[in-house]
Amino acid sequence: MKAALAHLDTHWEAVLGDLADFARIPGVSDAAYPKAPVRASAEWLARRLKAAGFETAEVVGFGDAHPYVVAEWLGAPGAPTLLLYGHHDVQPPGRPEKWVSPAFEPEIRDGRMYGRGVVDDKAGVMIHVAALEAWLKAEGRLPCNVKLIVEGEEESGSESLEAFLNTYRERFQADVIVLTDTANLDTGIPSITYTLRGLVAVDVEVAALDHPVHSGMWGGPVPDPVMAMCRILAGLTHADGSINIPGLYDKVRDDAAGRERLAHLPFDAERFKVDAGMLEGVEFAGEAGRSVYEKLWTRPSLTLTALEARPLKGAINQLIESASARVTIRVVPDQDPAEIQRLLIAALEANPPHGVKVTTTAKAVGGYWSTVPEGPAFEAAERALKAGFGADVAYIGCGGSIPFVQPFADVLGGVPALLLGLEDPICNAHGENESLHLGDFKKATVAAVHLYAELATALTPRPRA
Ligand SMILES: [Zn+2]
Repeated sequence: MKAALAHLDTHWEAVLGDLADFARIPGVSDAAYPKAPVRASAEWLARRLKAAGFETAEVVGFGDAHPYVVAEWLGAPGAPTLLLYGHHDVQPPGRPEKWVSPAFEPEIRDGRMYGRGVVDDKAGVMIHVAALEAWLKAEGRLPCNVKLIVEGEEESGSESLEAFLNTYRERFQADVIVLTDTANLDTGIPSITYTLRGLVAVDVEVAALDHPVHSGMWGGPVPDPVMAMCRILAGLTHADGSINIPGLYDKVRDDAAGRERLAHLPFDAERFKVDAGMLEGVEFAGEAGRSVYEKLWTRPSLTLTALEARPLKGAINQLIESASARVTIRVVPDQDPAEIQRLLIAALEANPPHGVKVTTTAKAVGGYWSTVPEGPAFEAAERALKAGFGADVAYIGCGGSIPFVQPFADVLGGVPALLLGLEDPICNAHGENESLHLGDFKKATVAAVHLYAELATALTPRPRA
């Protein structure tokens, strides 16, 4: 491994150059953007993996999906097999005038590289390209077998991923999955994400009239559907912001080990408020006695993502006929999202003020994902990350959902999944001026060199059917 680490050092400038070349390709997977650049980014990557020494590296089409890149090096018979995941597509660039340097012309300022996709997820991919190349060029081999899947439609929802993995189920069998596209608790703190919340959404319409009427001529006896909507929505939470839906917390996992894990993470309330954009004097909401990390990652939360009545502009003295809203709940272990959706609908429909008509429409449902971060794969990852970063690993959650995780868990059932990444709190992934901390990029690449060796010795290959 020493030679691989030395190779990485002497070739580090070239690695940065490669990342910049990769980031110059505007492979936006959003349907409103041209498809050719996404294919170009897949082709660039396949070529780069071949040059790194991969036996196979190909662009793989799958129906209408943007192309995947699949690469394999299987020269270590008897050794375990790693399946690495990343994505090569990027988000749309956003508002050009907000970028200090153009989105697709990567620029380095103050130790960070700026450009669309640099941290999400091109650096996540290049960590492995550089670390694998260092092994192959300097040692002539990898310590374990490696399969790599780099997706082209993650930023547009990973809609084909499950079918793709199922189609190639046999080809992608592995002993551990390493998904490099998540966040670190802070710059310089290597983090493993072990729990993700799911999402349930319901649209609700409250109607009282068949047409708008004058609020002076009719207001009073005639109920206002907008106020009725406000009452219904306000009833969904308690004054402290915790959720007031009967049965909602019944199945939330009481995870003492997880609470203990989160209690040890550093937390700076003032900085958190600034990062979140909370205005001066605004206080935290949510269940009393729960930490911010619990509220973010392991407790359910309710958000109104849309609320429609008459806009202020054009408002006149009228009672309007109806109002609508979208209510979403982030679900956590061990909540059944379909059951939570039913409970939410029941709460919305339970007591319509003045008999107003409440119509609900069930929208998205997605489950949580979580794993117990213990066992040889996690211990190996801890050692590797510590070697790379010179810092202890933080076990963290993610309050959002990551669509690519569950398909891997389903198709490779039971295999440990390591969720790693490079996004730090100021990286602005998906926003303008997205950036990558280059110090962490190097540390993560060194950690990857260690990771393959650590996993090779820590894991016993699973018997194949
Ligand atoms: Zn990503």
